[in-house]
Amino acid sequence: MSQSSQAGTIAEINRLRADNQAIILAHNYQNDEIQDLADFVGDSLALSQIAATTEAKLIIFCGVHFMAESAAILAPEKKVILPDETAGCPMAEMASAEEVLKWRDLYPHAAVVSYVNSTAAVKAVSDYCCTSANAVKLVQNIPEQEIIFLPDQNLGRYVALQLPDKLVHIWPGYCITHHRVTPENVRQAKQYQPDALVLVHPECRQEVAEMADFIGSTSQIINYVKKSLVQKFIIGTEMGILHSLQKENPQKFFYLLNPGLVCPNMKLTTIPKVLAALQNLKPEISVAPEIRLKAKTALDRMIKFV
Ligand code: SF4
Repeated sequence: MSQSSQAGTIAEINRLRADNQAIILAHNYQNDEIQDLADFVGDSLALSQIAATTEAKLIIFCGVHFMAESAAILAPEKKVILPDETAGCPMAEMASAEEVLKWRDLYPHAAVVSYVNSTAAVKAVSDYCCTSANAVKLVQNIPEQEIIFLPDQNLGRYVALQLPDKLVHIWPGYCITHHRVTPENVRQAKQYQPDALVLVHPECRQEVAEMADFIGSTSQIINYVKKSLVQKFIIGTEMGILHSLQKENPQKFFYLLNPGLVCPNMKLTTIPKVLAALQNLKPEISVAPEIRLKAKTALDRMIKFV
């Protein structure tokens, strides 16, 4: 798209956004131009909170399917549009409600804690939801000692290591993007930039996380960089975060830990698709009422542990 036609498209998006009393929410992993267009950019927890409390009538959710689904669960009176309905999350698809129920039979005393990166049907058979920003705090503070943690094995292991008093049964799912980072990537990056700190997301493998200077969610990485006196950072999460980091810290330097840290599903959202979503008011994401109410209980518990 040429610069002038992009400017025209953005002007039309702005007009339709105002006419429809819409807000545009964008995850930190979205394309740079989508982040620049959004009313709010954040991680799953922040965006869920905004979806639950906004007065806007229409939410254009620039993210992946489970995120728009969470917004629809938390704000049923609002219309939630996902500009590209094929934008899914492979990790969320690694757990089904039927399989979760089988694990419940296997561990009848365990509470089910689902990472927010899960389908609405899985949330509906879970006791709690969490995000990477509050997983440790939530598991630490719930009364149950025995936990089934799903679907991310890396976040599950990270939580279990922080909380040795809890018995955590870990689901074998993983994020295809974060899981491809290797300890060799960390060794090479440190060799190349020896005075940089390595900051990684807990969706990375344990061997990678053990070599990092800091492990945190996207919002925690952003806050860490803001407060740090260090100038250089090697970033071990999806590349979209570099946009916010560079914008907020223009004097600091950022290097991606592995060039494969790109989530193809997050990159499906484009400016023309956002315009089409506002023009056609679809594709709308909705959740069946019987699933929605059960899933909402788990999501409401997630939002309490900020
Ligand atoms: S980065 Fe990983 S967990 Fe996040 S949406 Fe993409 S595949 Fe799913």
